[in-house]
Amino acid sequence: MPYAYDPQNIFARILRGEIPNQTVAETEHTLAFNDIYPQAPVHVLVIPKGPYVCADHFALEASDAEIVDFWRTIGRICAEKGLQPGEGGQGYRTISNAGEVAVQEVPHYHVHILSGRPLGRMLQ
Ligand code: AMP
Repeated sequence: MPYAYDPQNIFARILRGEIPNQTVAETEHTLAFNDIYPQAPVHVLVIPKGPYVCADHFALEASDAEIVDFWRTIGRICAEKGLQPGEGGQGYRTISNAGEVAVQEVPHYHVHILSGRPLGRMLQ
């Protein structure tokens, strides 16, 4: 394993049902829930259920089924919330922080979906 996964991180605890969450979508391999400190009117976190630390870890170690399920869940959330640019929605941003340089707070891989306000060219 290239990364040591901490099973006590807060998203692992959410997956075990030890901490409540506002679920947006759940599939066999993926959970999506609202961010507790939303940075925009839409701020959803999408996480795999497996023990992956960050994007490269997930991309290299997860099964094809997990990866497809994860990104299809992101697509479905964007579609269900009417966010798709060109389809009447205003668009959205997906971002994922990895490690110190990106100030990753929770060491369980997650993608943020942000929308509902102008987001500027980059997040800080
Ligand atoms: P990151 O800095 O990319 O690791 O982002 C972690 C995100 O998790 C932050 O946006 C936090 O607001 C969010 N967060 C932390 N604890 C919880 C929680 N219990 N429920 C929902 N979101 C959380």
